[in-house]
This record gives sequence, C-alpha cells and structure tokens, in this order.
Amino acid sequence: MDFSLTDEERAVRDTVRSFIRREVMPLEAEVLRRERAHQPGLDHSEVRELQLKARKFGFWGLATPEEYGGMNLPAVLQSLIWTELGHTFVPFRFGGEADNILFHATEEQKQEFLIPTIEGERRSCFAITEPGAGSDAANIRLSARRDGDGDDWILDGEKTFITGGHDADFAIVVAVTDREKGARNGGATAFLVDRAMGWRSEFIQTMGEGGPASLIFDGVRVPHRNILGEIGQGFTLGMEWIGKGRYTIPSHAIGIAERVLQMAIDYANTRETFGAKIGTNQAIQWMIADSETELEAARWLVLRSAWTVDQGLDPRHASSMGKLYGAGMVNRVVDRVLQIHGGMGYTRELPIERWYRQVRLYRIFEGTDEMQRLIISRDLLRGYTKIGGHLA
Ligand SMILES: Cc1cc2nc3c(=O)[nH]c(=O)nc-3n(C[C@H](O)[C@H](O)[C@H](O)COP(=O)(O)OP(=O)(O)OC[C@H]3O[C@@H](n4cnc5c(N)ncnc54)[C@H](O)[C@@H]3O)c2cc1C
Repeated sequence: MDFSLTDEERAVRDTVRSFIRREVMPLEAEVLRRERAHQPGLDHSEVRELQLKARKFGFWGLATPEEYGGMNLPAVLQSLIWTELGHTFVPFRFGGEADNILFHATEEQKQEFLIPTIEGERRSCFAITEPGAGSDAANIRLSARRDGDGDDWILDGEKTFITGGHDADFAIVVAVTDREKGARNGGATAFLVDRAMGWRSEFIQTMGEGGPASLIFDGVRVPHRNILGEIGQGFTLGMEWIGKGRYTIPSHAIGIAERVLQMAIDYANTRETFGAKIGTNQAIQWMIADSETELEAARWLVLRSAWTVDQGLDPRHASSMGKLYGAGMVNRVVDRVLQIHGGMGYTRELPIERWYRQVRLYRIFEGTDEMQRLIISRDLLRGYTKIGGHLA
C-alpha cells in the first residue's frame, strides 16, 4: 500500500502552495480590515486579477476539460489544491471554472453561458433550495409551465439560500415541470435563466462573510431553448451539481484545520502562564493531539473519496463520509484552537473567530450532517455498500 503523493501531485501541490503564500496570503490583513468594515474582502476585479496571475502559472480551470482551456485534473489533485486554498481565508479560488452541470449544455448554450462563465465574463448561480424544500429537495414547488402552445415557459416561485445569487447574471434553476411525476421521478427540469429575463434577488445576512440570496420568479418567461439537459432531468442534474462539493468542501476544511492547528502550536509554544508555556499543560497537549488525529483521519477519508471519483466508482457513499467527518472535524479543530488562544481567540484581532463562523456552514450546505448520515446508513441498510468500502 502506497500513501505517498506522485511526483506530479507533489509538484502541483507545491506550486499552488507557493502561489498562495506569495500572492494571496499577503492580502489577509487588508481582507480582514475590509470585512470588519462590512465590505467584501476582495472585489471581483481583484479576484479576477489574481486569477489571471494564476493562469500565467498554468492554474486555470482545475476541473474544466482541456478543449475549453482547462486542466481537467483528476479529483485527487483537485482535492489537494482545495486543501491548499483552505490555508487562507482570503476569498480566492482559481478561475476558468464553470458549474459542472453546465457541460450538459447544447452548442448554442455553451456559447451563451458555459464559455463566458469559464472566461469569467458571466457569473452563474445554482438554485434548487426553496423556503419549503432544503434537505428534502424533491419537494420543490417553483413551477415552470408552458405558455399555451407557445415555445416559452413561465417560471413562478422562490429559491432561497443561493450562493452568489445576488451577483449572478444568470441562474441554473431547477423547476417543477410535471407535478404528477414528482421532482425525483422526471418531474423537474433545469433552466438557464438570465437575470434580464426578470427574476430578482434579495441578499440574505448570515453569520458568515458575504451571503447567499433569495431569487424571486414572478411570471418569468424563459424560452424553450434555455432548458439545460433534457426535460425531466432537473433533479438528476441537481444531485450531480451537489456531488462535486462533497469532496471539495471537506478538502477545503482540511486546509483550514492545518492552518489553524499550526497557529495553536505556535501559540502554545510561546504563551506563558504560571511561569511556563501553555503547551506544557496536558490539557493543551490533548487538544493538539486530538486535532491532529482527526485531521489525519479526515485527510485519508477525503482523499479516498476523491480517488473513488477518479476510479469511476460511485463516489456517493465515500464522499458523504468525507463531507460528514471533514465538516465536523474542522468545527472541532477551530473550536479547540480558539480555546487554546484564550481571550485573544475570541477577539477580532485574529482571524480565528472568522473561521469559526465560516466553518459552521460546512455542516449545513450541500447536504447537512444529518443528510450525510442518512445516505451512509441507508446505503448499508439496503446492502448497496459493504462495511470496509472498496477493500471489503
Ligand atoms: C450560506 C448558504 C449557501 C447555500 N448555497 C446554496 C446554493 O448555492 N444553492 C442551493 O440550491 N442551496 C444552497 N443552500 C441551501 C442548503 O443546501 C440548505 O440550507 C440545506 O440543504 C439544508 O436545508 P434547509 O436549510 O431547508 O434545512 P431543513 O431541510 O429544513 O433541515 C432543518 C434541520 O432538520 C434536519 N433534517 C431534515 N430532514 C431530516 C431527516 N429526514 N432526518 C434527520 N434530520 C433531518 C436537517 O439536517 C437540519 O438540521 C445554501 C445554504 C446556506 C446556508
């Protein structure tokens, strides 16, 4: 059994690491200052400038096929890169990306939506959640009905908690096209809906920096040619979109945990109480030991789930375990790191409280802890997976 990285994996990881250290981390103080003043950490032009800089180093379109100018990296490499990105709280990600399901677009749609999104000229958001349907996504109500015998569809309803929904100029919207069938059984369809077609957004304040939005559709007319994929395929596409985050989110969590744990170690080695470094206390040592152990466990769970993707196996079971454990792990680690920093950890002089607020989301979006547990146990109970995973 070989747990090492290949030369290519190590080289890519190290290049990303040095880019993040050299170009992104120096922005941290300014990002914190702006966020404390209730401004975005970076504006779009600044993110784009960084992305174009990264492009010069060859980092563009991690998941994007080569024919669209991307790198089409294996999931394991993408996971390693997301971990590197997690080392900083600066809201940066590499450019040249588009929602994975946009690749189901027709040639015409690719020109209008996919390619401009990859190039960073257009901004998308993905909308399935509604006020009455989150975990139970099959319960969506936003309706799309044909306009008489015309070639248009009329969308009515509301989406909520949509990341990037306040900035996006188009939305990928999963709507009910056949209520009788139900969303899960071919009754939902995905539409590409320009903001100019008439939907509006309302920003939602959250405990994190930035925030999602509600999207309101009030008789929004969408041409038939804007259907993404097939009629009735909307729920499947929605699940495909969510599937991607099941290994990138915990990969990011691992990066955050690595960074903050190092901060805790440095603090434990310098802060003195009762005439000794706090790191000499077993209470502090145990928090460090538990954090490192859980971090290591999450690392292999998540890398295994990315490896499962690369093997062409069904990654759902492995990635649900990775998402569940990785999200919980980073919350526990950040909490301990905050504790080790005492009062300083609670202040806004350090970014620890920012991470504390940020990572709370990881247990909620793209499938809550409870939904991951539901998937994992259901797979076992119905005999779809075996204890022991791919080694069983
Ligand atoms: C910041 C943010 C960004 C988001 N971005 C997007 C986005 O871009 N696009 C999008 O479509 N959605 C997005 N979401 C929505 C997110 O995916 C949902 O919030 C999430 O799936 C949970 O749904 P809910 O909030 O309706 O909670 P609910 O489904 O109402 O659940 C409430 C609680 O009950 C639990 N629960 C529910 N059913 C069960 C059950 N059967 N057994 C046990 N426990 C259960 C849940 O786990 C949870 O703890 C985002 C959410 C947030 C907060």
